[in-house]
Amino acid sequence: MRITLCGTRGSTPAPGRDFVRYGGHTSCIAVTTADAVTPELILDAGTGIREVTPLLADGPFAGTIALTHLHWDHVHGLPFFRGGDRDDAAVRLLMPALADGTGAEAALARGMSPPHFPITPEQLRGQWEFTGIEPGTVRLGALTLLAREIPHKGGRTFGYRVSDGTASFAYLPDHSPTNLGPGPDGLGEYHDAAMELADDADFLMHDSFWYAEDFEPAETLGHAAAEYAIGLAVAAGARQVLLLHHRPDRTDSELEKRAAGLRDSPVPVMLAADGEVICR
Ligand SMILES: [Zn+2]
Ligand SMILES: [Zn+2]
Repeated sequence: MRITLCGTRGSTPAPGRDFVRYGGHTSCIAVTTADAVTPELILDAGTGIREVTPLLADGPFAGTIALTHLHWDHVHGLPFFRGGDRDDAAVRLLMPALADGTGAEAALARGMSPPHFPITPEQLRGQWEFTGIEPGTVRLGALTLLAREIPHKGGRTFGYRVSDGTASFAYLPDHSPTNLGPGPDGLGEYHDAAMELADDADFLMHDSFWYAEDFEPAETLGHAAAEYAIGLAVAAGARQVLLLHHRPDRTDSELEKRAAGLRDSPVPVMLAADGEVICR
């Protein structure tokens, strides 16, 4: 499969000359299977989803968008996804089912409707289907999507694992493992859901809002440290770590300085950058 990193910034977009190498678009990953030309699966709909449209070869998007959760930085791109907002698009949008029974479309419409935004989800053009899902496995053609509930702050959140039978990766952009306890190194518990998602994965894409030396999980919106991601990869047997959900104020040079401090990690560690393509 081919994975395009369309948005790797966390929390809010980060434009500007200090952010050109890693990019400023918020969470969005596009997955194209080996036999396909265009992406069939999109993880999260942050502002990076605008970069999926050029991957569609002027055609409509026909596939699935799976949201990890409903925070702004994971949904704000939705109405600006031109490949999905056209008459011939066919989009199945999956998100964690809400505990209070609110339907998926109504939950999205809380943030996407007047007076917060000019249109509602229902007004997106094409065929849109909005579905709340429980943790479990969803078959999407040649891909398998595994959803597990993971701790975060303010709203039910899933981590995902995507596999095509040959390669697999885990995607946990927003994760607050300290909610479950300090774990062995004070960075959070290596809990069952995270372990299952990352188990033997080719790579682990993980929240790196913090680095151990500035780690203050109580000070912000429910995030993890890069060193936790490395510890999880080692514990679960994942072969590579891709750090994402970069803090919006971390400049290119600061990110590179932080990453240099992780060079001797027991697994290869890379900083995810907008526009990067990974083939497995
Ligand atoms: Zn986020
Ligand atoms: Zn979040």
